Amino acid sequence: MANDSYQEAVAGLSKLLSKDPTLYGALAKGQSPKFLVFACSDSRVCPSHILNFQPGEAFVVRNIANMVAPYDKKKHSGVGAAIEYAVLHLKVENIVVIGHSCCGGIKGLMSIPDDGTTSSEFIENWVQICSTAKAKVKSDCSNLSFEEQCHNCEKEAVNVSLGNLLTYPFVREGLLKETLAVKGAHYDFVKGNFALWDLDFKITPLVAV
Ligand SMILES: [Zn+2]
Repeated sequence: MANDSYQEAVAGLSKLLSKDPTLYGALAKGQSPKFLVFACSDSRVCPSHILNFQPGEAFVVRNIANMVAPYDKKKHSGVGAAIEYAVLHLKVENIVVIGHSCCGGIKGLMSIPDDGTTSSEFIENWVQICSTAKAKVKSDCSNLSFEEQCHNCEKEAVNVSLGNLLTYPFVREGLLKETLAVKGAHYDFVKGNFALWDLDFKITPLVAV
């Protein structure tokens, strides 16, 4: 950030703090957000800006292409730690995974050659969390242009992430007890559309025999 932009951001923050001292007084005591949001790191799609979340309302994880890695204590554990904290400690009531238009991470996933050769240090390995979305789009939408395939993959990857959320036992438990709802979303910042959908799933509680 250039020095001027940095000073502007600090000035904006001071203005915000002086505008609502009671809010920040309450927030100093703790947070109880109702939402855990997964959003892309892309500078054009800040979830607080899109959904007008105020401080204290959303616990946010941002990463390349808004992906939720499946439960794994050895890999991508930053994702697991955030979900565990949000669900078990903050007791959020909603998890929303928000994909978006023109996502460079999804384009990167769709561009990985079929032989799997990669050229980046981290990026391609990360986005392959949603490789099943790529496979589905390549097979179902082979007649579409690459751009249209990417657009479809932005939504399919959200569905893969929703499925990955179910690999976390505390997420499954919250869904079964109905203390937690999981939703997918896609924000098209070019057209100004925001689509929201429910997780299509079926889980049955383990029955002791
Ligand atoms: Zn993105």
